[in-house]
Amino acid sequence: MNRANCDKKEEMEKKLIIAIDGYSSCGKSSFARAIASELNYIYIDSGAMYRAVTLYSIRKGYTGNGDQKTGSIIEDLPTIHISFIYNPDIGSYETYLNSENVEDEIRSIEVSSHVSRISQIHEVRARMVELQRQIGVYKGIVMDGRDIGTVVFPDADLKIFMTASVDIRAKRRYDELRGKNIDVDLEEVRMNIISRDIADENRDISPLRRADDALVLDNSRMTVDQQMEWVMKIIRQKINEDRN
Ligand code: C5P
Repeated sequence: MNRANCDKKEEMEKKLIIAIDGYSSCGKSSFARAIASELNYIYIDSGAMYRAVTLYSIRKGYTGNGDQKTGSIIEDLPTIHISFIYNPDIGSYETYLNSENVEDEIRSIEVSSHVSRISQIHEVRARMVELQRQIGVYKGIVMDGRDIGTVVFPDADLKIFMTASVDIRAKRRYDELRGKNIDVDLEEVRMNIISRDIADENRDISPLRRADDALVLDNSRMTVDQQMEWVMKIIRQKINEDRN
């Protein structure tokens, strides 16, 4: 993936790198997307990259309910091309796997239930981090994930760590999936979130943790507008500090 895949780039004001990390289904993507849109920055959903590798592995039969063929996944990494292409009709970027739009398919519960295993593979992480850093060289980006402020961009200009209660996160994810006509059960979504939290926090490589210099945002009881008001105030201060 390279920056040419993000065809909204000319409009971007290349400024800060904003890293947003946190638990699954905290609303990181919507928040990051809204910030990027407000600032005319590029938004990169790093979770979508791990999801795309997972979808590829499921289709190839490398992962599923049986043993995982980790060697085959690693071997195929150079042939797995992930890009983000701006769709003006919906006003946001969509994820492409080897030139196929997989934006909806990577959100399925099947992909969600295997992605933590795939994201534990050292070589997969190394490749994704390399791609993420390539995108970040020009600045003017908002990237969300689990290790953006700790590993991918330890020098990010602004780091935010998002959290919310498990029940609220489960309900939000459930509503999102139902909104896309994906038939799921609330308890199944809740269990998936809990197991991904545990896997993300306890994996050996780049576990989910708050960077020491990250600001914590618990949005359990905040509206999107309140979150935006909070963050834009901080961003304006940062931009003014950088000017002075
Ligand atoms: O953000 P999202 O829930 O779509 O991420 C899917 C999964 O990808 C996470 O549960 C996590 O296992 C993995 N991930 C990661 N590092 C990131 C982003 C996502 O390990 N930076």
